[in-house]
Formats: sequence, C-alpha cells, structure tokens
Amino acid sequence: MTVELVKHSAADTDVLWAARVSTAGEQSLDELTKDPERSKGLINYLMRDRHGSPFEHNSMTFFVSAPLFVFREFHRHRVGWSYNEESGRYRQLEPVFYVPDEARKLVQQGRPGKYEFVEGSPEQLKLVEGAMTASYQQAYTAYLEMLDAGVAREVARAVLPVGLYSSMYATCNARSLMHFLGLRTRHELAKTPSFPQREIEMVAEAMEAQWAELMPLTHAAFNKNGRVAP
Ligand SMILES: Cc1cc2nc3c(=O)[nH]c(=O)nc-3n(C[C@H](O)[C@H](O)[C@H](O)COP(=O)(O)OP(=O)(O)OC[C@H]3O[C@@H](n4cnc5c(N)ncnc54)[C@H](O)[C@@H]3O)c2cc1C
Repeated sequence: MTVELVKHSAADTDVLWAARVSTAGEQSLDELTKDPERSKGLINYLMRDRHGSPFEHNSMTFFVSAPLFVFREFHRHRVGWSYNEESGRYRQLEPVFYVPDEARKLVQQGRPGKYEFVEGSPEQLKLVEGAMTASYQQAYTAYLEMLDAGVAREVARAVLPVGLYSSMYATCNARSLMHFLGLRTRHELAKTPSFPQREIEMVAEAMEAQWAELMPLTHAAFNKNGRVAP
C-alpha cells in the first residue's frame, strides 16, 4: 500500500483560530501563539465536548494506492471527503495485485462484528499465495486477450478481481479523518472498539502517522478523548 500526503494546509493553529473567533472576533489571529498551554486546553475541551466544526478549517490530500476491496470500504466515507480515482475505462489497468505477506493473520475466529485473527500455518500461507497468484494471472491474461481482440476496456475489466490495485487522491479535513480513523483502526485508547479489515487499517495507520505530525495537539486530544471524532 502507498499512502502519501501530497498536499496540505493543516495545523493546530487552524483549530484555535476558528474556535477563538467565537469570543475574540477578528482579534483571534493575535491570540494564536500567546499561551501554548491554554491552546492545548482549548483543543482538548473542543474535542471532549464534541465541538467539531473548528476541526474542519484545514485540508489534507493523500495519494493512496491499495487494492479495490480497500477502496470499496474507503468510499463508504461520504462526509468531508473528496475522491478522484484512476479509471478502468480510460486507461489499461496495470497487473498489480495484492498478495498478503506472512505478517497478515490469515485465520478468522469469533463472531461477526467481533472477529479475532490468528496466524495461519505455513501451508495456509502457501495456499493463499499460490491460489491468488494463479487466479490473478489467469484473470489478467483474459483481460489482455479481450483488449487485443478489440473489446472495450470498460467491458474487459469485468474479469479483474478485487485484489487489483487502484489509485486515488483523497482529500479530507481533520474532523472527517478522525471519524474515519475511529472506524478503520483498532486502538487500545478507543472508547468504542472497532474491528476493521486489516488492509484498510494499514492505510488508516499510515494516514494517521502523517496527520499526527501536522496537528500534534489535535491528535493527542483525539487519543485522550477515546478516539471519538468531535
Ligand atoms: C468494521 C466495519 C464493518 C462494516 N461492515 C459493513 C457491512 O457489512 N456492510 C455495509 O454496507 N457497510 C459496512 N460498513 C460501513 C459502514 O456502515 C459505514 O458505511 C462506513 O463506516 C462509513 O461510516 P459513516 O456513514 O459514519 O461515514 P460518513 O459517510 O463519512 O458519514 C459521517 C457521518 O455523517 C452522518 N451521515 C452521513 N450520511 C448520513 C445520512 N444519509 N443520514 C444521516 N446521517 C448521515 C452520520 O453521522 C455519519 O456517521 C462497515 C464499517 C466498519 C467500520
């Protein structure tokens, strides 16, 4: 998976500035750097009491390359997100497919909505690698055959499986990102545990690490308050 922060305008001061306009009006810009402890306290208060809109005055654009099954889950996040994805109609899709590595726990246990995953055996890992590779090769060969025979890309792509990689730009703000992170990561500090698919969680973790560098006070307050988006 690739997750690159390609563009951003996002800082803790954006939150403070937006919040302080309530009380300080246009003087709020002068307040920004006056008292760091007060600023930290204000961000924490906004997070705790779920005053969410001050966390929207910022923007982050990520380039994400991940399998289609990850994108399918990702695009369910509608609010505060903008997406543009590569097209299977306008370009020939590249043969890049997902095969889990040995770190991916393969065996699912427990009940729906609360699955636990445990290590697979070496045989299971070998089976997964072999079955996926063979299936991907067969599907991509059929795709090329159809393209060579003059079939439209938008028709031929139907044979390609959800393990195929796609790429997109995804733009969000800190509030929409926190909502996404609350649902798509499993974290010990979360007030409400979530049980996301590991692959989208890998994307979410990479986004979180890059966001945390831009907005450390907001990130710390998110964690402190149970990873609930305000
Ligand atoms: C672990 C996990 C398992 C899942 N399993 C399934 C599954 O089996 N099947 C499935 O279909 N989906 C599944 N989903 C997707 C899930 O139902 C949501 O679609 C997805 O998490 C996006 O969440 P959201 O709607 O809160 O986000 P967004 O679309 O970004 O919305 C953000 C918030 O805006 C508000 N909002 C947005 N749209 C509306 C609306 N139309 N009406 C009222 N309020 C609105 C809500 O408060 C919402 O929380 C799963 C998600 C997770 C995390």
